[in-house]
Amino acid sequence: MKVAIIGAGASGLMAAGAISAKGHAVTVFDGNDKCGKKIYITGKGRCNLTNLCDRQTFLENVVRGAKFVQSALSRFSPQDAIDYFENLGLKTKRERGNRIFPVSDKASDVTAALLRSCQNVKFKLNHKVQKIQDGFVVDGESFDRVIIATGGMSYSATGSDGSGYRFAKSFGHSIMEPKAALVPIETGKKFASLEGLSLKNVTLSATANGRVFQEFGEMLFTGNGISGPIVLSLSSFINRDLPKELYLDFKPALSLEKLDARLLREFDNNKNKFLKSVMSALLPHRMIEVFLREVQIEGERRVQSITQKERLQIAKTLKRFTLPVKKLYPIENAVITSGGVCLDEVNPKNMQSKLKEGLYFVGEVLDIDALTGGFNLQIAFATAMAAVSDF
Ligand SMILES: Cc1cc2nc3c(=O)[nH]c(=O)nc-3n(C[C@H](O)[C@H](O)[C@H](O)COP(=O)(O)OP(=O)(O)OC[C@H]3O[C@@H](n4cnc5c(N)ncnc54)[C@H](O)[C@@H]3O)c2cc1C
Repeated sequence: MKVAIIGAGASGLMAAGAISAKGHAVTVFDGNDKCGKKIYITGKGRCNLTNLCDRQTFLENVVRGAKFVQSALSRFSPQDAIDYFENLGLKTKRERGNRIFPVSDKASDVTAALLRSCQNVKFKLNHKVQKIQDGFVVDGESFDRVIIATGGMSYSATGSDGSGYRFAKSFGHSIMEPKAALVPIETGKKFASLEGLSLKNVTLSATANGRVFQEFGEMLFTGNGISGPIVLSLSSFINRDLPKELYLDFKPALSLEKLDARLLREFDNNKNKFLKSVMSALLPHRMIEVFLREVQIEGERRVQSITQKERLQIAKTLKRFTLPVKKLYPIENAVITSGGVCLDEVNPKNMQSKLKEGLYFVGEVLDIDALTGGFNLQIAFATAMAAVSDF
């Protein structure tokens, strides 16, 4: 069988190697001059290729498409992905949170391993596919089947510019609106003095689609907003119903009452000190001025002059510091695209289009997205292998 794969990214390369191993003639098209350009930038150049957690935990990390992707994941699990790569000569290691990386810490080794599986695959690089006609004719060349593995539309310099959606539409598929996910958030207020400040063990929460979302961990102030792990995760849950405000809890381990008691202790022990210096027991130095401006209490007041009402106000603001939301950073800056080819129109067992026999969709072009931790690449690999099972 003659098979065309559009896209030499994570999912396209995996599908290409495995289908060619079944004796089919595979041609991979990619607009870039080399394969796996996005893989090179994954995991900060180290490529977190999968996550070796249990099935339930995995699915909890899938934001959209969890139900759809279940069957593909059970047939090609994170352990299967590790074994697959180990068989291709890639040694892997497990890190914090069950994240799997190459032992070499080099994303390029992941691409090299995938390419080793593609020895009998024909590559047409520097070839941006313009049109797929019924039949299937890809830019003038005929094929029996076509796999669309064109990715989403973020980091378009890596080649994923959303053209897969256009191909899908030409076969009558619906596209769920692409939105930025795992993306920094621009705040209504600018915190220029906080740029680069990272906060650890804080909680960020928001209400969207009538639900409260809460993330605990580390965040970072950027020039015009916020980023870091918990901000990226939260963005994936609120990107379709952007709230006006986010709430930052600096002391999630303490109830309001306990925090107030702690403040009372600090204040009692430091009666003659300035409020701003006592606050350094509770907040990073750079945060104090911004925080006190928010509660509208002078930092140069002696602690003994702070009233009970003001102290309670400080405690409440430590538990719920408001960050007004302006917008998400552009989709170009998103780690993943949420939205894509509508899952109702694709068979979850083999990723074949329900509208056009012989047409398949794999990877990020589908309306599936997950949190950080190796889940997105695992989904790209598992959906690719589901398609492979049909050959
Ligand atoms: C900065 C960053 C870091 C990330 N880190 C991780 C991580 O550590 N772990 C993780 O699990 N996920 C990570 N991801 C997400 C992960 O990279 C993607 O989910 C994954 O690459 C999707 O694979 P794919 O094969 O669907 O698409 P891609 O890897 O994007 O590949 C699509 C390919 O299709 C080609 N293409 C598109 N249109 C055409 C066309 N018309 N003609 C020809 N070729 C075309 C493109 O050139 C591209 O090579 C990260 C993403 C980013 C942006």
